[in-house]
This record gives sequence, C-alpha cells and structure tokens, in this order.
Amino acid sequence: MIPVVEAISIVLEQTSALNTESVAVGESTGRILAEDIVADTDLPPFDRAQMDGYAVRAADVANTPAQLKVVGESAAGAGWHQEMNAGEAVRIMTGAPVPVGADAVQQVELTREPNGTGTVEILESVEAGRSIVKQAAEIKSGETVLRAGDDINAQTIATLASFGYAQVIVGRRPRVAVMATGSELVDVNEKPGSDQIRDSNNYTIEAYARLTGATVRRLPLAGDDREELRQQMSAAVENCDVLITSGGVSMGVYDFTKTAFRDLGAEIFFERVALRPGKPTVFGRIGKTLIFGLPGNPVSVAVTFNLFVRAALRAMQGATETSLPRLTAVLARDVKGSRGRESYLPAILHTDEKGNLLAEPLKWGGSSDFVSFARATALINIPADAATVNAGSIVDGCRLPFM
Ligand code: AMP
Ligand code: MG
Repeated sequence: MIPVVEAISIVLEQTSALNTESVAVGESTGRILAEDIVADTDLPPFDRAQMDGYAVRAADVANTPAQLKVVGESAAGAGWHQEMNAGEAVRIMTGAPVPVGADAVQQVELTREPNGTGTVEILESVEAGRSIVKQAAEIKSGETVLRAGDDINAQTIATLASFGYAQVIVGRRPRVAVMATGSELVDVNEKPGSDQIRDSNNYTIEAYARLTGATVRRLPLAGDDREELRQQMSAAVENCDVLITSGGVSMGVYDFTKTAFRDLGAEIFFERVALRPGKPTVFGRIGKTLIFGLPGNPVSVAVTFNLFVRAALRAMQGATETSLPRLTAVLARDVKGSRGRESYLPAILHTDEKGNLLAEPLKWGGSSDFVSFARATALINIPADAATVNAGSIVDGCRLPFM
C-alpha cells in the first residue's frame, strides 16, 4: 500500500504530454494552452475615455460652473484627432480616444449643454486624469499574458480574442475508453433482473473525463470472466490513450481485472493505495496505453478518478496544474480517521455569516452511497490514523468539478 501523494507522483512520472493541435478560439474553452499568449497591442491602445461626457483640461474647470467651447466630438471608433486648447471641450463617449490637450473627462451627468450655443457648462471640477485609462495602463505590447499549461476558460477567452488569437495551440484531447466490469451489471435502459444492478460507473467516468478535456468511448459491459475481460481490454488499448475500468480489483474470487491486465502483459505501477475510499486502485500500462483499474463502488470511482485519473488526463494535455483546486475549511461535524489510510470524504461547502468556509461531511452510507454523494461539492482530507477530528478543526480538501 502506498500513500496518496506517492501514487499521484507515480501517475505523473508515467504520463507524458500528447501532441498539440490548433483550434478556433471559439472552440477552445476547456482546453489547455500549448503556447504562450503575447499581447500584440498596448491595452488600452490609446488614452481611453471611461465615461460618456466631456474631455476637458482640469485647470479650466477648477472653478465651476465653467463655460467651455465645444470644438468636436470623439466617439468609440471615430476619434477627434486634433489638439484641444485651453477653454475648449470635446464631447466624448465611453471607449473613445481622449484628444491631445485634454487631461480629464467629466461625466455627462455633471454637465449641461444648452441647445445651439456651441458651449458646455461643466458643473463640477475634476482632477487631472479622472475617467481616463492611459495607453498601456493595463498591458504593454509584447507582454506575455497567458502561459502554455494554463487552462482556457470563460475568464481567459477575452484575452485570446483581444490579442488576435483566432486559432490557439492546445494539447490534444486524450482518447479515453471506459469499461465497467461485473456480471451483475445491466445498461441504463434495462430493468435489472434479480441479483442485478444498473451500471453507473461508466457514466460517472465519462462525465468526469469529458470535463477534463478527454474524448470518451464507452465499451460494452463486461462480465466477471477472465477471457472476456482480456479480449475487450485487448481491443480497447489498440486505439485509446487511457483505458479506465471499474470493478473487479478487490479480493473476491471473481475479481479478474488485474489478472486480465497481466494476461495482456501490463506493467503495474501500483495496485493498492492507502486511501479511503479507493484502496484497491490499480495503475499500469499496456504498450503505450495507460490503464486505471478503479474500484467498483461508485463513490470510490469518483474519488479515485479525481485524485489519479484526472491528473494523468491533464498532464497529457500539458496542464501546469494537475490536481483539483485545494482548500482549507472549518470542519462542521466530527469525523473519524481511518487506520493506516488517508480519507477523502465527500462534503458540502458553506460559508457562515462571519465569512468562514465550512465543510460539512456528508452523512452517507459508505462508498456505495452515490445518492448522498450527489450533493457533495468537495472532498475533505483526513490524515491516516487520525482519531476523531472534531468539529471546528481546520481541514484540507479539494473542490470537486462543478459542472
Ligand atoms: P467490485 O469492486 O467489483 O467488487 O464492486 C464493488 C461494488 O460496486 C459492488 O457492490 C458492485 O456491484 C458495485 N459496482 C461495480 N461496478 C459498478 C458499476 N459499473 N456501476 C455501479 N455499481 C457498480
Ligand atoms: Mg465486481
């Protein structure tokens, strides 16, 4: 049995980045950048008005009301490119360039432009610099604004678009095959007979793997039969980067997943992790294909996918950050540690009225209780061999994917 951190570092050691590809910026959300993004312009590209109003010289409006001659108009996309002199004002819109000679913008609400007079009355003074964002105040041309390995998400898209990256180089999507094993399993559209249950693990793994950027192929359900497993796995590893199985990795007489991996010449890097839930997790390789043999219990699947498989899938795409976002929170209820194993327990995060982040461990029926798990937003990490950890203690954990 190896510690969780060691298992994660073995996964990362054995994983190498896949090729890269070019995708349209509009299709790039959820991918990992494989190139640095460099600003090709200053931002703003010119001194920019931040308000609708009048470009003025602050000195001209030190005493108000002040009467100024309106000499032009600067609109977004159609600036006024002459020099503004003392005693003058230029009507200006948000996003328009501030004319040379002006040093402030007074917002339109604090002005009055009587019809037909060609003048504006500035009702309140402004200090120099007000409502102007100077050229390059945000970004200078040539600056690196995002780096290879960063996530592309809705927050980063504006940066890609604004600097002209119509196409973006990203890590190729890993090709994942999922294969649920167990003679008790029937597919979602079937009514389970006696002694049977519906497969849910294939769908859980597919959902998480897609969120991680992979393409997923669901294989037919496989029974607890060594030869059937071997044949399906053998066909699957031919055309995927990662094969993820669930079930059949414990000590039961019909647990054949590892045997089948070995029948195919798999190199096994670990097969037991000091983790609750998820102890019998297997990681290895057949040829070039990484293989994960996850336990059968649905909550163990969710936990081990997020700790181990997710790291591999992100590393394959070149991600700098391969683990779930970490957090520290105040434990809302007592929990018990596990002898010899670290726990990653499902929890719901709240904030209290003082702004503290609270983690409330789920009341759940163990690693088979996927209905309780549906409410989890985080996993909290209880060290191995901890006696009871009391409510109010500070615990570490990680956020589960949100979508
Ligand atoms: P195993 O690891 O094969 O012994 O399975 C442990 C438990 O998880 C058993 O109760 C199985 O019935 C259940 N299980 C295994 N595979 C799945 C699956 N694909 N979907 C839902 N439950 C499963
Ligand atoms: Mg089984």
